[in-house]
Parts: sequence; C-alpha cells; structure tokens
Amino acid sequence: MEGSCLCGGVRFEVTEPFVYVGHCHCTFCKKISGGVGTTSGRARTESIVIVEGAELLSSFTPDGGSAKTFCSGCGSNLFGGGWPDVELAPVRLTAIDSEVDAKPEAHTFVRSVAAWEILPEDGLPRYEIRAT
Ligand SMILES: [Zn+2]
Ligand SMILES: [Zn+2]
Repeated sequence: MEGSCLCGGVRFEVTEPFVYVGHCHCTFCKKISGGVGTTSGRARTESIVIVEGAELLSSFTPDGGSAKTFCSGCGSNLFGGGWPDVELAPVRLTAIDSEVDAKPEAHTFVRSVAAWEILPEDGLPRYEIRAT
C-alpha cells in the first residue's frame, strides 16, 4: 500500500497487510483528526517505509498518550502509537492512497464519544477503552 500526506511532501509504503483495523474515538484522536477520531490500520513498524519527506515528519506525545506523528508541512496525521519505537504502529487510513482490503473491526474508546457525535449502527463491537 502507498500513502501520503495532504501536501504530498511525505510519501510512504506499507509492505504488509494490516493486522488490525479500527476506529478510535479517544480525545487525543479527536483533537488531531478534526473529526470523531481516527481510523487506523496496525502494521509492523518494519513494514512502514518512508519513501520521501522523512525530514518533514514531526511527533507530539500528549500527557498519558503515545507519540503521534504528522507532516510538519501540512499537519496531516500519519502514524500513532509511538511509531517508530514500537513493534506495531497504527497507520492512519486517511493517509493511505491505495485500496485498503481490510475493514474496521471495532470502535475503541467509546467512553470519549462526544455529545455531538453519533456512533454508527454498523454492528461492530464497541469498547470503553481498548479492544485488547
Ligand atoms: Zn504534508
Ligand atoms: Zn485514539
């Protein structure tokens, strides 16, 4: 799979299928996404290859959370979960330009669903915090 940020400065590849795909509704994901949260595919860090724009990557670690990596040129959120210092890292599906085979499997951190947010009746399991 190929991915990029909004300005195109950062280009990357994910060379293996995602091991999990899910929606996260936590307060951090809301802040960085501009919406109800993030939808990410978890991949082995080794399989995430930065093709272009590594120098544009910037990270922020919120109190009590893991590092979120974004493009410093356009602000697009790209990776989370402490990438690249973890074995498995969430890749934001909004950054993937290829077709993604996997479908989301769960809604996590639904304890943080906003008053203005309506969870879809999609039959997926919902977890107060993490799924696993
Ligand atoms: Zn960018
Ligand atoms: Zn989250």
